[in-house]
Amino acid sequence: MKITFLGGVEEVTGSKYLIEHKVGQEDIKILVDCGLFQGPHEVAKRNWYELPIDPSEIDAIVITHAHIDHTGYIPAFVKKGFRGKIYCSHATLALCRLLLVDSGNLQEGAVKSKYAQSNQQEPLYTVADAQYSLRFFEPVDYDTQITIGGSLHVTLIRSDHILGSNFVVISDGNRTLTFSGDLGRPEDLIMKSPPHLKNTDYLVLESTYGDRLHKKTDPIHELGELIQETVARQGVVIIPVFAVGRAQTVLYCLYQLKEKGIISDIPIFLDSPMAIEVTELFCQFQDEHKLPVSLCNKIFDIAEYTRTVDESKAIDHVQPPMIIIAGSGMGDGGRAPHHFKRFISDAKNRIIFAGYQAMGTPGRALVEGAGKIKIDENWYPVRAQVNIIDSFSAHADFHEILAWLSYFESKPKKVFITHGELASAQSLKEKVQDKFGWDVVVPKYLESFDLD
Ligand SMILES: [Zn+2]
Repeated sequence: MKITFLGGVEEVTGSKYLIEHKVGQEDIKILVDCGLFQGPHEVAKRNWYELPIDPSEIDAIVITHAHIDHTGYIPAFVKKGFRGKIYCSHATLALCRLLLVDSGNLQEGAVKSKYAQSNQQEPLYTVADAQYSLRFFEPVDYDTQITIGGSLHVTLIRSDHILGSNFVVISDGNRTLTFSGDLGRPEDLIMKSPPHLKNTDYLVLESTYGDRLHKKTDPIHELGELIQETVARQGVVIIPVFAVGRAQTVLYCLYQLKEKGIISDIPIFLDSPMAIEVTELFCQFQDEHKLPVSLCNKIFDIAEYTRTVDESKAIDHVQPPMIIIAGSGMGDGGRAPHHFKRFISDAKNRIIFAGYQAMGTPGRALVEGAGKIKIDENWYPVRAQVNIIDSFSAHADFHEILAWLSYFESKPKKVFITHGELASAQSLKEKVQDKFGWDVVVPKYLESFDLD
């Protein structure tokens, strides 16, 4: 087997790993993850670079989880000629039906809004391209081996980063190669603890938090205090969230706070059509998380779901106090920015970000204390209080990554550190070398390794 790193190295987006296996006349090629490069223009433009591989020659794609930085390039890959099968878990397919179509919408929108500054006239892919790509998906059960070509065996093992996430284990009969995908956390509020693996010859390991630790604070307690203060002065709380995972975790926290009597009976709106659909999937895929059926429905019933634009606009006329949960998680899309326009300039109100805010996003500017913010060409003074609760993250920090690695009973031949900024990947490399004495490498873009 041979592995080539086509993305998700020295950065956190664009995950794409090519596995080639030659045996006799057979030459099998599979891609693990097919993610979009996301972020500032410098990063996103890489989605347009010539691919170093011909998609029509790839036999199959195997997906670790539905996040767009792991799946968002699939419609473009199909558009360029890929015709193989796309293997993933059942919940990942259900999520991709929502996320890829939404991504097609964003790609179409990006061309319209940026047309003036770029010569890009065609979207990377359209909604129709995204819908077409879904035909190639083939969901498989966890822990059930499938064979690609005649000799590459692939198994998906549930990994608990998000709904539908899995480790990918590939074997050619002699060696095994395991992908961690994004590694979840042992004590997540709603997701189960990632299972421990015992053996692999080669490991591809993520490093988003390779040089950082999450705060050990209780997010429910933190959230409760911030809401109480705001409600006491009749303010509005806006919580920007991502649709997959974070929105459901925030609803769970609010449910707990209501049960404990910490927050009173004030209106709570889930103002994100995508988050509403993902929330419904949570109750369908019971085995994927810790919430029992009875509780699942109760938790998600605490919010009023607003689907249409008119319903969303009507929220701004509701008598405060109230809580608005809206996309996106970094305030750079979705409906949250529209509520900012109405509420951000009043000191009674509060915005609570639930997790990491990337450089260049409105969320980052706000948590760093920006005095004004530009939304749709207009500036708004920031008088509302702004907070961030870091402990909501769905990624293991370096203590949690090292603890997960400690369950391996034999030493992998090599560990490849991916999915992290360079400093983070390097830092994790040193930590793994120091603690376990393993052979660890931080691969470069397009670098290949023989796995013998
Ligand atoms: Zn992820």
